[in-house]
Amino acid sequence: MRDETCIFCKIIADEIPSYTIYEDEEFRVILDVNPASKGHALILPKEHYANIYEIEEELAGRAMRLAKKLAVHMTKVLACDGFNLLQNNHQTAGQTVFHFHMHLIPRYKNAKNSDILIWNHENFTPEEMEEVKNALKCSRDSEQG
Ligand code: 5GP
Ligand code: ZN
Repeated sequence: MRDETCIFCKIIADEIPSYTIYEDEEFRVILDVNPASKGHALILPKEHYANIYEIEEELAGRAMRLAKKLAVHMTKVLACDGFNLLQNNHQTAGQTVFHFHMHLIPRYKNAKNSDILIWNHENFTPEEMEEVKNALKCSRDSEQG
């Protein structure tokens, strides 16, 4: 399950070098080549899935478990002051590499780029909030996708 045109598949196959900080049977974790901060890393499943819609649910769960462990480890080692987990899907949402990945972004007080990940707010009327709530409402057993 590899995509011949995918840069992350090439990294996983060691055809392109990377700074690898963690590896197991299912995942490779590398430093981002254009880091938002010191230690910015990417969790890559070794199997190619384009995005959150394609990745198998259980594997997505294990990716989150790994993110939790690495957030704790990286925060300890880097002595960072905060931490973002980020996961982009489709170009509209900022995805540029179409192999599922999770960003691990350590954050530092007084960092030059301390406003990364801040977005403008949109305003919705109570009726619009009610409408979207009704459209989205689901339960554990609903078919989500
Ligand atoms: P996205 O925008 O798809 O969520 O994130 C893709 C990330 O992959 C970007 O932050 C980008 O800097 C990083 N990236 C792209 N190409 C490479 C590469 O060849 N090596 C590494 N280590 N990171 C890459
Ligand atoms: Zn891939």
